[in-house]
Amino acid sequence: MTWRWTRSRTSRAERAAGRNVASKPSNEAPRPIAELHGVGPAIAAKFKALGLVDEIDLLFHRPLRYEDRTRITPIGRLRPSTTTLVQGRVTHQEVRFGRRKSLLVVLADDSGQVVLRFFNFYPSQQRQFAVGNAMRCFGEVRFGPEGYEMAHPQCQVIREGFDPPLPDHLTPVYPTTAGLGQAKLAERILETVDRALNGSLALPDPLGNVQGLGTLADALAAIHRPAATANLDALIDGYDPAVQRLALEELLAHHLALARLNRARAKQHADSLIDNTGLVDRLLAEFPFTPTGAQTRVIGEIAADLSGTRPMRRLLQGDVGSGKTLVAAAAVAQAIGAGAQAAIIAPTEILAEQHRENFSRWFDPLGIEAVWLAGKVKGKARQEALEKLAAGAPLAIGTHALFQEGVEFDRLRLVVVDEQHRFGVGQRLALAAKGAEDTGRGQSRIPHQLVMTATPIPRTLAMTAYAGLEVSVIDELPPGRKPVTTALIRDDRRGELVERIRAQLAAGHQAYWVCPLIEESDLLEAEAAETTWEALKAQLPDFDVGLVHGRMKARDKQAVMARFKAGEIHLLVATTVIEVGVDVPNAGLMIIENAERLGLSQLHQLRGRVGRGSEQAACVLMFKPPLGELAKARLEVMRETTDGFRIAERDLELRGPGEVLGTRQTGMLRFRIADLARDADRVEQVPELARSLKRADVDVLIQRWIGDSEQFADV
Ligand code: ADP
Ligand code: MG
Repeated sequence: MTWRWTRSRTSRAERAAGRNVASKPSNEAPRPIAELHGVGPAIAAKFKALGLVDEIDLLFHRPLRYEDRTRITPIGRLRPSTTTLVQGRVTHQEVRFGRRKSLLVVLADDSGQVVLRFFNFYPSQQRQFAVGNAMRCFGEVRFGPEGYEMAHPQCQVIREGFDPPLPDHLTPVYPTTAGLGQAKLAERILETVDRALNGSLALPDPLGNVQGLGTLADALAAIHRPAATANLDALIDGYDPAVQRLALEELLAHHLALARLNRARAKQHADSLIDNTGLVDRLLAEFPFTPTGAQTRVIGEIAADLSGTRPMRRLLQGDVGSGKTLVAAAAVAQAIGAGAQAAIIAPTEILAEQHRENFSRWFDPLGIEAVWLAGKVKGKARQEALEKLAAGAPLAIGTHALFQEGVEFDRLRLVVVDEQHRFGVGQRLALAAKGAEDTGRGQSRIPHQLVMTATPIPRTLAMTAYAGLEVSVIDELPPGRKPVTTALIRDDRRGELVERIRAQLAAGHQAYWVCPLIEESDLLEAEAAETTWEALKAQLPDFDVGLVHGRMKARDKQAVMARFKAGEIHLLVATTVIEVGVDVPNAGLMIIENAERLGLSQLHQLRGRVGRGSEQAACVLMFKPPLGELAKARLEVMRETTDGFRIAERDLELRGPGEVLGTRQTGMLRFRIADLARDADRVEQVPELARSLKRADVDVLIQRWIGDSEQFADV
């Protein structure tokens, strides 16, 4: 279970509205972005991809950097590698037909001239840059064949005598995503910041000028509209008082929410699950191997939890390949043996399908049929599945489809969530709610929850990241595993790799070729994978080369994975969709492109897909030179060890906890502003600050940073 609570927007907005009407009648509650003027569903989805759902999110979206458009630099004083605003007149224009067709424009003022260069230009641009036009342009200055030049500057035609005013603040540049332009994003954010600053957006500030860091409004102004004289390094790195002010408030809100969560939990109750039919023993007897010592110990820890009436909230950590599935199966058997229903959910259909195969193989002989529910189960099959679950079928396996409305259980008492970092908390809450019942004595009954993850969290961070969760660790791999050997190679040595793959495939083994995220876009990722796939197909005509990526239909992905598993596909080109859980023991070689761009934990997850059989397996990490010091050190870690905990610890040393915990790969504790390493001192100030707050203030802060308190009280 992660502590990145989803926030319930509507109820927060409603409450904020109710609370603030009295103080300032013009105040409006924060609105969902989808309801803002000029934002359609497609754009709203892009915002959502950035984690921005309502106006509060916009306020806390921090710029990556700032641009100085507050003054015009004389062209004669341009310096290379600076990003600068210039103004002048077009003195020359031509289209060049070289290797790439380009539009070349010369812009001059009294002090000098600069070349503007555009590849992929439109006729309208050619007209815009008519000789004689006055233009204002902003771009990065470089030294080119024709002297100083700007490639693709942002330009604006200036009408004689009507110079538009220069902004009096620096221009923020925000992190964005493909399909959402910087201008559009910035416009929305700055509009909202303005509304917050002029009081038309309700934004109560219970902390005020806390610890001399300024008020909430001060902080928002300093972050989104800094003066040209601001200390930009401090703002970007987060040491600026403005960022510290928000970080402190966020850490405080987090602390308050945890305290509330712990109080709420004391009121929850679960059924004691005692396996009085001997199902667990019968299951274990069926496995072709004996559980490792670690598996046996963890099975015991879970069994003890399940037999109690305090709802289990246990995180099962175990490195890739450590055998978590068997442990989950034992827990499920205990629940079923106690006459209850158990559900196993996985984040993707591929993984869920794999569990279905395993669990069916193990539970069918015991007379227990698994009910399968995924997005692709439709019509009559779905109806049948729903009826079985409502009638109390003991075992449910599937994807988030199991959370959906219309799915009813009879007595769901155990929920197992695999590879937890792929799920949103909201989805898990929805499932927990399915099993929740009011016991009538001010208590609610909820299912036991077992969350499984292969993402190792360094011990030093586990306390914060998993606050409130019991943790079990499988710290032993099944016997006979040979550690995967790992090599680093430059991406211009692709040719040699193809030969190596050919040898691997000719020996009857299989291989993966992974094309990871190049930009924050699954479309581009899919395109990169497709290009690589085409090339490899051509280079390896004697073998079957398959492709799987996130933009394919679930059914098609499934079919490709099934063929890979069956050995019909020899080389699988994939995006990071194969990251977690996929188990194909005959695959002994993995190539990962652009390895320097991936987090260590993600590389570790990917590499864990090979080395699952008894043969020596290998992983090749391709990188694009030149590598920075940090990138080099990180890839070295991958070469030195295959121990996930060791890797996580090194990652922590190299990058700091904010990064390790804050990345998409781990998806654990995720702060918007705060950084546990940077703000360690602030963390210590929080408890005392918390004691000084009134209940209403606590509500405001939890609502703002975490969301509806009732919702997470149910976790
Ligand atoms: P993960 O923890 O990554 O989910 P799995 O549960 O998929 O790992 O197990 C990885 C592989 O190890 C599977 O092929 C499984 O059958 C095998 N395995 C699990 N436990 C043992 C054991 N005690 N002895 C031998 N092999 C095992
Ligand atoms: Mg697994």
